[in-house]
Amino acid sequence: MKLHGIHVPHRKNTADAAPVRMPVPAVITVPMSMNIGAPAQPVVKVGDEVKVGQLIAQAGGPVSAPIHSGVSGKVKKLDQVLSSNGRYDTAIVIETDGEQRVCEDLAPPQVSDLDSFVEAVRASGSVGLGGAGFPTSIKLKVKPEQVQEIIINGAECEPYITSDTRTMLDDAESIAQGAALLQKYYAAQRVIMAIEDNKPQCIQRMRQAGKDVPGFEVAALPAIYPQGGEKVVIFHTTGKVVPEGKLPIDVGVLVLNCTTLAIIAKYINTGMPLVEKVVTVDGSAVEKPQNVIVPVGTSMKDVLDFCGLKAEPRKVMYGGPMMGISVPSLDAPVMKNTNAVLAFAEREAAAPATTPCIRCGRCAASCPLKLQPASFETAYRNNEPETLKALKVNLCMECGCCSYVCPAKRPLVQVHKLSKAMLNQYNAELRAQEEKAKAKKGEEVRVNG
Ligand code: SF4
Ligand code: SF4
Repeated sequence: MKLHGIHVPHRKNTADAAPVRMPVPAVITVPMSMNIGAPAQPVVKVGDEVKVGQLIAQAGGPVSAPIHSGVSGKVKKLDQVLSSNGRYDTAIVIETDGEQRVCEDLAPPQVSDLDSFVEAVRASGSVGLGGAGFPTSIKLKVKPEQVQEIIINGAECEPYITSDTRTMLDDAESIAQGAALLQKYYAAQRVIMAIEDNKPQCIQRMRQAGKDVPGFEVAALPAIYPQGGEKVVIFHTTGKVVPEGKLPIDVGVLVLNCTTLAIIAKYINTGMPLVEKVVTVDGSAVEKPQNVIVPVGTSMKDVLDFCGLKAEPRKVMYGGPMMGISVPSLDAPVMKNTNAVLAFAEREAAAPATTPCIRCGRCAASCPLKLQPASFETAYRNNEPETLKALKVNLCMECGCCSYVCPAKRPLVQVHKLSKAMLNQYNAELRAQEEKAKAKKGEEVRVNG
Protein backbone atom coordinates (compact mmCIF):
# COMPACT_ATOMS: atom_id res chain seq x y z
CA MET A 1 0.00 0.00 0.00
CA LYS A 2 1.45 3.39 -0.98
CA LEU A 3 1.39 5.77 1.97
CA HIS A 4 0.01 9.22 1.35
CA GLY A 5 1.57 12.17 3.17
CA ILE A 6 4.65 14.22 3.98
CA HIS A 7 7.02 14.61 6.90
CA VAL A 8 6.59 17.77 8.97
CA PRO A 9 8.35 18.70 12.24
CA HIS A 10 6.30 17.28 15.12
CA ARG A 11 7.11 19.86 17.82
CA LYS A 12 4.99 17.99 20.38
CA ASN A 13 6.48 20.05 23.20
CA THR A 14 3.51 19.52 25.50
CA ALA A 15 3.00 15.76 25.14
CA ASP A 16 4.57 14.77 28.46
CA ALA A 17 2.72 17.09 30.83
CA ALA A 18 -0.79 16.33 32.10
CA PRO A 19 -3.27 19.16 31.39
CA VAL A 20 -3.76 21.80 34.10
CA ARG A 21 -7.10 23.37 34.89
CA MET A 22 -7.10 27.11 34.30
CA PRO A 23 -8.84 29.34 36.86
CA VAL A 24 -12.38 30.14 35.76
CA PRO A 25 -12.30 33.31 33.61
CA ALA A 26 -14.40 36.34 34.62
CA VAL A 27 -16.49 36.06 31.46
CA ILE A 28 -17.07 33.44 28.77
CA THR A 29 -18.48 34.09 25.30
CA VAL A 30 -20.22 31.05 23.83
CA PRO A 31 -20.89 31.22 20.06
CA MET A 32 -24.01 29.56 18.67
CA SER A 33 -22.21 28.31 15.53
CA MET A 34 -19.79 25.69 16.80
CA ASN A 35 -20.85 22.92 14.46
CA ILE A 36 -21.39 22.31 10.79
CA GLY A 37 -25.09 22.85 10.08
CA ALA A 38 -27.61 25.16 11.71
CA PRO A 39 -26.51 27.39 14.62
CA ALA A 40 -27.97 26.56 18.04
CA GLN A 41 -30.81 28.72 19.39
CA PRO A 42 -30.42 30.37 22.83
CA VAL A 43 -32.88 29.23 25.51
CA VAL A 44 -31.64 31.68 28.15
CA LYS A 45 -32.12 35.43 28.39
CA VAL A 46 -30.17 38.31 29.87
CA GLY A 47 -30.12 38.13 33.67
CA ASP A 48 -30.72 34.35 33.88
CA GLU A 49 -28.61 32.42 36.39
CA VAL A 50 -26.87 29.41 34.84
CA LYS A 51 -24.95 26.47 36.23
CA VAL A 52 -22.29 24.12 34.89
CA GLY A 53 -23.82 21.65 32.44
CA GLN A 54 -27.08 23.58 32.05
CA LEU A 55 -28.60 23.76 28.55
CA ILE A 56 -28.20 27.31 27.24
CA ALA A 57 -29.01 26.75 23.56
CA GLN A 58 -30.97 24.04 21.81
CA ALA A 59 -30.09 22.47 18.47
CA GLY A 60 -31.20 24.79 15.66
CA GLY A 61 -32.24 22.04 13.22
CA PRO A 62 -31.74 18.39 12.32
CA VAL A 63 -28.00 19.01 11.68
CA SER A 64 -27.07 20.96 14.78
CA ALA A 65 -26.02 20.37 18.39
CA PRO A 66 -27.23 21.74 21.74
CA ILE A 67 -24.89 23.90 23.85
CA HIS A 68 -24.41 23.81 27.62
CA SER A 69 -22.73 26.21 30.00
CA GLY A 70 -19.22 25.44 31.22
CA VAL A 71 -19.52 27.86 34.15
CA SER A 72 -21.94 29.02 36.80
CA GLY A 73 -22.89 32.68 36.70
CA LYS A 74 -25.29 35.11 35.08
CA VAL A 75 -26.12 35.76 31.41
CA LYS A 76 -24.76 39.24 30.77
CA LYS A 77 -25.83 39.72 27.16
CA LEU A 78 -26.57 38.06 23.83
CA ASP A 79 -24.01 39.56 21.52
CA GLN A 80 -22.87 39.47 17.92
CA VAL A 81 -19.25 38.32 17.68
CA LEU A 82 -16.92 38.17 14.70
CA SER A 83 -16.08 34.54 13.99
CA SER A 84 -12.92 33.25 12.32
CA ASN A 85 -14.73 32.84 8.99
CA GLY A 86 -15.38 36.59 8.91
CA ARG A 87 -19.10 36.28 9.63
CA TYR A 88 -20.93 37.60 12.67
CA ASP A 89 -22.40 35.01 14.98
CA THR A 90 -24.73 35.26 17.98
CA ALA A 91 -23.01 34.44 21.26
CA ILE A 92 -24.18 34.08 24.86
CA VAL A 93 -21.94 36.09 27.19
CA ILE A 94 -21.88 34.76 30.77
CA GLU A 95 -20.39 36.57 33.74
CA THR A 96 -19.00 33.83 35.95
CA ASP A 97 -19.35 33.65 39.74
CA GLY A 98 -16.28 31.43 40.21
CA GLU A 99 -18.27 28.90 42.21
CA GLN A 100 -18.73 26.34 39.40
CA ARG A 101 -22.06 25.20 40.81
CA VAL A 102 -23.22 22.14 38.87
CA CYS A 103 -26.73 21.96 37.41
CA GLU A 104 -28.90 19.76 39.69
CA ASP A 105 -30.85 18.35 36.73
CA LEU A 106 -27.86 16.46 35.33
CA ALA A 107 -28.24 12.68 35.40
CA PRO A 108 -26.84 9.83 33.35
CA PRO A 109 -29.11 9.23 30.33
CA GLN A 110 -31.14 6.02 29.98
CA VAL A 111 -29.40 4.08 27.21
CA SER A 112 -30.90 0.72 26.31
CA ASP A 113 -30.72 0.42 22.52
CA LEU A 114 -29.21 2.07 19.44
CA ASP A 115 -31.85 4.82 19.22
CA SER A 116 -31.42 5.83 22.87
CA PHE A 117 -27.62 5.71 22.44
CA VAL A 118 -27.76 8.08 19.44
CA GLU A 119 -30.18 10.32 21.36
CA ALA A 120 -27.74 10.42 24.30
CA VAL A 121 -24.91 11.41 21.94
CA ARG A 122 -27.13 14.18 20.54
CA ALA A 123 -27.99 15.43 24.03
CA SER A 124 -24.30 15.45 25.04
CA GLY A 125 -23.69 18.27 22.56
CA SER A 126 -20.83 16.29 21.00
CA VAL A 127 -19.36 17.40 17.72
CA GLY A 128 -16.35 16.00 15.88
CA LEU A 129 -13.46 17.35 17.91
CA GLY A 130 -10.73 16.49 15.46
CA GLY A 131 -12.09 18.53 12.60
CA ALA A 132 -14.86 20.77 11.40
CA GLY A 133 -17.35 20.10 14.21
CA PHE A 134 -19.86 17.80 12.50
CA PRO A 135 -22.56 16.84 15.05
CA THR A 136 -21.56 13.34 16.15
CA SER A 137 -25.12 12.02 16.52
CA ILE A 138 -25.74 12.60 12.79
CA LYS A 139 -22.73 10.46 11.95
CA LEU A 140 -24.13 7.70 14.19
CA LYS A 141 -27.56 7.62 12.53
CA VAL A 142 -26.67 4.56 10.46
CA LYS A 143 -27.86 0.97 10.51
CA PRO A 144 -25.59 -1.57 12.25
CA GLU A 145 -25.45 -3.68 9.07
CA GLN A 146 -23.85 -0.73 7.24
CA VAL A 147 -20.87 -0.67 9.62
CA GLN A 148 -17.97 -3.02 8.91
CA GLU A 149 -15.15 -1.08 10.55
CA ILE A 150 -15.11 1.55 13.27
CA ILE A 151 -12.00 3.71 13.28
CA ILE A 152 -11.19 5.62 16.46
CA ASN A 153 -8.98 8.41 15.27
CA GLY A 154 -6.04 9.08 17.57
CA ALA A 155 -3.75 10.16 14.72
CA GLU A 156 -2.85 13.65 15.87
CA CYS A 157 -0.66 14.63 12.97
CA GLU A 158 -0.63 18.45 13.14
CA PRO A 159 2.57 19.88 14.62
CA TYR A 160 2.37 21.10 18.23
CA ILE A 161 -1.08 19.66 19.10
CA THR A 162 -1.17 17.07 21.88
CA SER A 163 -4.71 17.31 23.29
CA ASP A 164 -5.78 13.92 21.84
CA THR A 165 -2.45 12.48 22.96
CA ARG A 166 -3.29 13.52 26.50
CA THR A 167 -6.78 11.98 26.25
CA MET A 168 -5.21 8.68 25.22
CA LEU A 169 -2.69 8.84 28.07
CA ASP A 170 -4.96 10.23 30.81
CA ASP A 171 -8.35 8.80 29.88
CA ALA A 172 -7.78 5.66 27.82
CA GLU A 173 -10.52 3.90 29.80
CA SER A 174 -13.19 6.37 28.64
CA ILE A 175 -12.12 5.88 25.02
CA ALA A 176 -12.29 2.11 25.52
CA GLN A 177 -15.70 2.40 27.16
CA GLY A 178 -16.90 4.46 24.19
CA ALA A 179 -15.52 1.79 21.85
CA ALA A 180 -17.38 -0.91 23.81
CA LEU A 181 -20.62 1.06 23.52
CA LEU A 182 -20.16 1.42 19.77
CA GLN A 183 -19.53 -2.31 19.50
CA LYS A 184 -22.60 -3.07 21.59
CA TYR A 185 -24.85 -1.21 19.16
CA TYR A 186 -23.08 -1.62 15.79
CA ALA A 187 -21.20 -4.94 16.21
CA ALA A 188 -18.56 -4.06 13.61
CA GLN A 189 -16.07 -6.66 12.40
CA ARG A 190 -13.16 -4.48 13.50
CA VAL A 191 -12.65 -1.53 15.85
CA ILE A 192 -9.39 0.06 14.77
CA MET A 193 -7.70 2.52 17.10
CA ALA A 194 -5.46 4.58 14.77
CA ILE A 195 -2.36 6.03 16.43
CA GLU A 196 0.92 7.17 14.89
CA ASP A 197 4.00 5.14 15.73
CA ASN A 198 5.74 8.12 17.35
CA LYS A 199 3.32 7.78 20.29
CA PRO A 200 4.40 4.43 21.81
CA GLN A 201 2.93 5.25 25.23
CA CYS A 202 -0.48 5.94 23.71
CA ILE A 203 -0.29 2.69 21.75
CA GLN A 204 0.53 0.79 24.93
CA ARG A 205 -2.19 2.51 26.97
CA MET A 206 -4.86 1.89 24.36
CA ARG A 207 -3.84 -1.75 23.77
CA GLN A 208 -4.28 -2.37 27.49
CA ALA A 209 -7.49 -0.34 27.90
CA GLY A 210 -9.20 -1.81 24.84
CA LYS A 211 -8.24 -5.47 25.31
CA ASP A 212 -11.76 -6.55 26.32
CA VAL A 213 -13.57 -4.69 23.53
CA PRO A 214 -14.63 -7.22 20.87
CA GLY A 215 -12.73 -6.76 17.60
CA PHE A 216 -10.48 -4.06 19.08
CA GLU A 217 -7.01 -3.55 17.63
CA VAL A 218 -4.47 -0.74 17.63
CA ALA A 219 -3.03 0.24 14.25
CA ALA A 220 0.40 1.87 14.69
CA LEU A 221 0.63 4.11 11.65
CA PRO A 222 3.66 5.95 10.24
CA ALA A 223 3.95 9.46 11.68
CA ILE A 224 3.30 11.33 8.47
CA TYR A 225 1.02 14.27 7.78
CA PRO A 226 -2.02 14.26 7.26
CA GLN A 227 -2.36 10.81 8.82
CA GLY A 228 -5.40 11.98 10.83
CA GLY A 229 -7.34 13.16 7.76
CA GLU A 230 -10.50 11.06 7.51
CA LYS A 231 -9.92 9.67 4.02
CA VAL A 232 -6.22 9.16 4.70
CA VAL A 233 -6.73 7.25 7.95
CA ILE A 234 -9.44 5.09 6.33
CA PHE A 235 -7.09 4.21 3.47
CA HIS A 236 -4.13 3.50 5.72
CA THR A 237 -6.07 1.28 8.14
CA THR A 238 -8.48 -0.55 5.82
CA GLY A 239 -7.14 -0.01 2.28
CA LYS A 240 -10.57 1.39 1.36
CA VAL A 241 -10.97 4.48 -0.82
CA VAL A 242 -13.97 6.75 -0.19
CA PRO A 243 -15.28 7.55 -3.70
CA GLU A 244 -15.90 11.12 -4.81
CA GLY A 245 -19.13 12.52 -3.38
CA LYS A 246 -19.51 9.63 -0.93
CA LEU A 247 -19.15 9.34 2.83
CA PRO A 248 -17.03 6.90 4.85
CA ILE A 249 -20.19 4.96 5.74
CA ASP A 250 -20.71 4.30 2.02
CA VAL A 251 -17.64 2.05 2.23
CA GLY A 252 -18.75 0.60 5.59
CA VAL A 253 -16.60 2.77 7.83
CA LEU A 254 -17.50 4.93 10.83
CA VAL A 255 -14.74 7.30 11.99
CA LEU A 256 -14.81 9.02 15.38
CA ASN A 257 -12.17 11.17 17.05
CA CYS A 258 -10.81 9.58 20.24
CA THR A 259 -11.60 12.59 22.48
CA THR A 260 -15.14 12.78 21.09
CA LEU A 261 -15.61 9.16 22.11
CA ALA A 262 -14.22 9.80 25.62
CA ILE A 263 -16.66 12.71 26.07
CA ILE A 264 -19.59 10.55 24.97
CA ALA A 265 -18.60 7.82 27.46
CA LYS A 266 -18.32 10.36 30.27
CA TYR A 267 -21.71 11.86 29.41
CA ILE A 268 -23.30 8.40 29.55
CA ASN A 269 -21.65 7.78 32.95
CA THR A 270 -22.37 11.14 34.55
CA GLY A 271 -24.80 13.20 32.47
CA MET A 272 -22.19 15.99 32.14
CA PRO A 273 -22.28 17.22 28.54
CA LEU A 274 -19.45 18.75 26.49
CA VAL A 275 -18.71 21.98 28.39
CA GLU A 276 -14.92 22.16 28.58
CA LYS A 277 -11.91 21.42 26.42
CA VAL A 278 -8.30 20.37 26.76
CA VAL A 279 -6.45 22.85 24.58
CA THR A 280 -2.77 22.76 23.61
CA VAL A 281 -1.25 26.22 24.03
CA ASP A 282 2.08 26.59 22.23
CA GLY A 283 4.00 28.58 19.62
CA SER A 284 7.06 30.80 19.65
CA ALA A 285 5.31 33.64 21.52
CA VAL A 286 4.13 31.44 24.41
CA GLU A 287 6.20 31.48 27.56
CA LYS A 288 4.94 28.25 29.09
CA PRO A 289 3.58 25.84 26.48
CA GLN A 290 1.13 23.41 28.09
CA ASN A 291 -2.24 21.74 27.83
CA VAL A 292 -4.95 23.59 29.71
CA ILE A 293 -8.52 22.64 30.61
CA VAL A 294 -10.89 25.55 29.96
CA PRO A 295 -14.65 26.07 29.74
CA VAL A 296 -15.89 26.37 26.14
CA GLY A 297 -16.20 30.12 25.51
CA THR A 298 -12.96 31.13 27.29
CA SER A 299 -11.21 33.87 25.29
CA MET A 300 -7.85 33.33 23.63
CA LYS A 301 -6.62 36.31 25.63
CA ASP A 302 -7.44 34.62 28.94
CA VAL A 303 -5.77 31.39 27.77
CA LEU A 304 -2.63 33.24 26.65
CA ASP A 305 -2.54 35.37 29.82
CA PHE A 306 -2.58 32.17 31.85
CA CYS A 307 0.27 30.56 29.89
CA GLY A 308 2.24 33.81 29.59
CA LEU A 309 3.79 35.49 26.56
CA LYS A 310 7.48 35.97 25.94
CA ALA A 311 6.99 37.96 22.72
CA GLU A 312 4.27 40.02 21.06
CA PRO A 313 1.94 37.49 19.34
CA ARG A 314 1.72 38.41 15.64
CA LYS A 315 -0.36 35.44 14.61
CA VAL A 316 -2.77 33.54 16.86
CA MET A 317 -4.48 30.44 15.53
CA TYR A 318 -7.21 27.96 16.24
CA GLY A 319 -5.61 24.58 15.55
CA GLY A 320 -2.25 23.67 14.09
CA PRO A 321 -0.02 25.46 11.61
CA MET A 322 -1.02 23.22 8.68
CA MET A 323 -4.82 23.49 8.80
CA GLY A 324 -5.46 26.00 11.58
CA ILE A 325 -7.25 29.32 11.15
CA SER A 326 -5.91 32.68 12.27
CA VAL A 327 -8.22 34.49 14.67
CA PRO A 328 -9.33 38.07 13.99
CA SER A 329 -8.91 39.10 17.63
CA LEU A 330 -7.76 37.71 20.97
CA ASP A 331 -11.38 37.98 22.11
CA ALA A 332 -12.07 34.90 19.95
CA PRO A 333 -13.36 32.13 22.22
CA VAL A 334 -12.30 28.51 22.59
CA MET A 335 -14.98 26.52 20.78
CA LYS A 336 -16.10 22.91 21.08
CA ASN A 337 -13.74 21.78 18.33
CA THR A 338 -10.76 23.94 19.35
CA ASN A 339 -7.90 21.60 20.15
CA ALA A 340 -5.08 24.17 20.15
CA VAL A 341 -4.33 27.85 20.56
CA LEU A 342 -1.02 28.68 18.91
CA ALA A 343 0.60 32.11 19.17
CA PHE A 344 3.57 32.97 16.97
CA ALA A 345 6.02 35.85 17.20
CA GLU A 346 7.04 38.08 14.30
CA ARG A 347 9.56 35.70 12.70
CA GLU A 348 7.19 32.71 12.33
CA ALA A 349 4.15 34.85 11.59
CA ALA A 350 5.66 36.73 8.62
CA ALA A 351 4.30 35.57 5.25
CA PRO A 352 7.16 34.20 3.11
CA ALA A 353 8.11 36.02 -0.10
CA THR A 354 6.63 34.19 -3.08
CA THR A 355 8.32 33.66 -6.44
CA PRO A 356 6.88 32.35 -9.73
CA CYS A 357 5.99 28.68 -10.07
CA ILE A 358 8.89 26.68 -11.50
CA ARG A 359 6.70 23.73 -12.55
CA CYS A 360 8.66 21.36 -10.32
CA GLY A 361 5.64 19.18 -9.56
CA ARG A 362 6.40 18.83 -5.85
CA CYS A 363 2.95 20.06 -4.88
CA ALA A 364 1.24 17.31 -6.90
CA ALA A 365 3.65 14.68 -5.60
CA SER A 366 2.89 15.66 -2.00
CA CYS A 367 -0.91 15.73 -2.33
CA PRO A 368 -2.45 12.82 -0.38
CA LEU A 369 -5.41 12.84 -2.77
CA LYS A 370 -3.25 12.99 -5.92
CA LEU A 371 -4.72 16.32 -7.04
CA GLN A 372 -3.03 18.98 -9.20
CA PRO A 373 -2.49 22.01 -6.90
CA ALA A 374 -0.47 24.13 -9.37
CA SER A 375 -3.16 23.69 -12.03
CA PHE A 376 -5.83 24.81 -9.52
CA GLU A 377 -3.90 28.01 -9.02
CA THR A 378 -3.58 28.67 -12.77
CA ALA A 379 -7.29 27.98 -13.35
CA TYR A 380 -8.30 30.21 -10.45
CA ARG A 381 -6.16 33.13 -11.61
CA ASN A 382 -7.56 32.69 -15.16
CA ASN A 383 -11.11 32.69 -13.74
CA GLU A 384 -11.91 29.22 -15.15
CA PRO A 385 -14.47 27.50 -12.92
CA GLU A 386 -15.11 24.76 -15.53
CA THR A 387 -11.43 23.83 -15.39
CA LEU A 388 -11.55 23.83 -11.58
CA LYS A 389 -14.52 21.48 -11.78
CA ALA A 390 -12.71 19.16 -14.19
CA LEU A 391 -9.63 19.18 -11.94
CA LYS A 392 -11.87 18.27 -8.95
CA VAL A 393 -10.82 21.11 -6.68
CA ASN A 394 -13.89 20.21 -4.57
CA LEU A 395 -12.03 17.12 -3.32
CA CYS A 396 -9.22 19.20 -1.79
CA MET A 397 -9.22 18.73 1.99
CA GLU A 398 -7.12 21.87 2.54
CA CYS A 399 -4.41 19.90 4.31
CA GLY A 400 -1.68 22.33 3.20
CA CYS A 401 0.87 19.70 2.10
CA CYS A 402 1.23 21.38 -1.29
CA SER A 403 1.88 24.84 0.22
CA TYR A 404 4.34 23.34 2.69
CA VAL A 405 6.56 21.70 0.05
CA CYS A 406 6.38 24.46 -2.58
CA PRO A 407 9.87 25.93 -3.10
CA ALA A 408 8.33 29.08 -4.58
CA LYS A 409 6.21 29.53 -1.43
CA ARG A 410 3.03 29.87 -3.49
CA PRO A 411 -0.01 30.39 -1.20
CA LEU A 412 -1.61 27.30 -2.70
CA VAL A 413 -4.04 26.23 0.01
CA GLN A 414 -5.40 29.77 0.33
CA VAL A 415 -6.01 29.78 -3.43
CA HIS A 416 -7.70 26.36 -3.22
CA LYS A 417 -10.17 27.76 -0.69
CA LEU A 418 -10.94 30.66 -3.02
CA SER A 419 -11.16 28.24 -5.96
CA LYS A 420 -13.73 26.13 -4.12
CA ALA A 421 -15.77 29.26 -3.41
CA MET A 422 -15.56 30.19 -7.11
CA LEU A 423 -16.71 26.70 -8.12
CA ASN A 424 -19.60 26.77 -5.63
CA GLN A 425 -20.73 30.11 -7.01
CA TYR A 426 -20.49 28.75 -10.57
CA ASN A 427 -22.51 25.64 -9.67
CA ALA A 428 -25.14 27.77 -7.92
CA GLU A 429 -25.49 29.96 -11.01
CA LEU A 430 -25.78 26.87 -13.23
CA ARG A 431 -28.52 25.46 -11.00
CA ALA A 432 -30.37 28.79 -11.05
CA GLN A 433 -30.20 28.90 -14.87
CA GLU A 434 -31.48 25.33 -15.11
CA GLU A 435 -34.38 26.12 -12.77
CA LYS A 436 -35.23 29.19 -14.82
CA ALA A 437 -35.13 27.22 -18.09
CA LYS A 438 -37.34 24.51 -16.56
CA ALA A 439 -39.84 27.08 -15.31
CA LYS A 440 -39.91 28.77 -18.72
CA LYS A 441 -40.50 25.45 -20.49
CA GLY A 442 -43.32 24.63 -18.08
CA GLU A 443 -44.91 28.01 -18.74
CA GLU A 444 -44.73 27.46 -22.54
CA VAL A 445 -46.38 24.05 -22.20
CA ARG A 446 -49.13 25.60 -20.05
CA VAL A 447 -49.80 28.46 -22.52
CA ASN A 448 -49.50 26.41 -25.75
CA GLY A 449 -51.13 23.26 -24.39
S1 SF4 B 1 -4.41 20.13 -3.16
FE1 SF4 B 1 -5.60 20.14 -1.28
S2 SF4 B 1 -5.59 18.00 -0.59
FE2 SF4 B 1 -3.91 18.24 -2.09
S3 SF4 B 1 -2.09 18.77 -0.87
FE3 SF4 B 1 -3.00 20.70 -1.49
S4 SF4 B 1 -4.34 21.26 0.21
FE4 SF4 B 1 -3.88 19.05 0.46
S1 SF4 C 1 5.46 23.06 -5.88
FE1 SF4 C 1 5.24 25.26 -6.24
S2 SF4 C 1 6.77 25.72 -7.76
FE2 SF4 C 1 6.52 23.50 -7.80
S3 SF4 C 1 4.91 23.13 -9.35
FE3 SF4 C 1 3.87 23.32 -7.41
S4 SF4 C 1 3.28 25.48 -7.29
FE4 SF4 C 1 4.88 25.32 -8.84
